[in-house]
Amino acid sequence: MKPSEIMSSIQLNGKNIALTDVLVDEMGDNHVQTSVDTPLRNDAFVLSDEDKIKAIEKHFRAIMEVLGLDLNDDSLKGTPKRVAKMYVKEIFKGLNPENMPKVTLFNNSYHYNQMLVEKNISFYSNCEHHFVPIIGRAHVAYISNGKVIGLSKLNRIVNYFAKRPQVQERLTMQIGTALQKILGTQDVAVVIDAKHLCVASRGIEDDTSTTVTSFYEGKFKEEATRSEFLKYLELHTKV
Ligand SMILES: [Zn+2]
Repeated sequence: MKPSEIMSSIQLNGKNIALTDVLVDEMGDNHVQTSVDTPLRNDAFVLSDEDKIKAIEKHFRAIMEVLGLDLNDDSLKGTPKRVAKMYVKEIFKGLNPENMPKVTLFNNSYHYNQMLVEKNISFYSNCEHHFVPIIGRAHVAYISNGKVIGLSKLNRIVNYFAKRPQVQERLTMQIGTALQKILGTQDVAVVIDAKHLCVASRGIEDDTSTTVTSFYEGKFKEEATRSEFLKYLELHTKV
């Protein structure tokens, strides 16, 4: 018996509701991706950072007031400004293309023609559905097409895209497609393993699960290349 045959509908407020309807209603279309781009309005950068901080400070103060917090309290009175600055200058600074890391490429003069893997790139992002942290590690790989990139730039690129309200699927694709563009090659792989605090600290409150997403393009679509990459991820190297 398939699960759907065991219970395909439930009683809710006296109505018979198909279980699929309930699930769809709960999920909304949160995870339907229409584009790899972060959905931004055309006027996203009309306001300066300073104006954004002022506006967010005002609105965040209003949220705290609605919650009943006393904004005259010494410990709380600076919070609206702190949160506003943190949003604009730190945790969401990757929304602004001006903050894209400047990347210098080098000629692959030593003719290294194997894959390069940088693993365990740690990042902090924020889930765009709940605005709570996503904590994870990205593993990226590419095969040089004549150009190589400074290793720390790989960290910077991961962190640039992480500093946005995100869903993990989009974060993975944004890193992958950016690396393809920068390096001028299709041969790029990205695997992300992350913990979502919206799953751990609220909602289902599962503190142990992590989510894995991947991006395999070019030669990484081939079984042999992909499994070589995955083998490196299993290595526990001590430096
Ligand atoms: Zn979430």
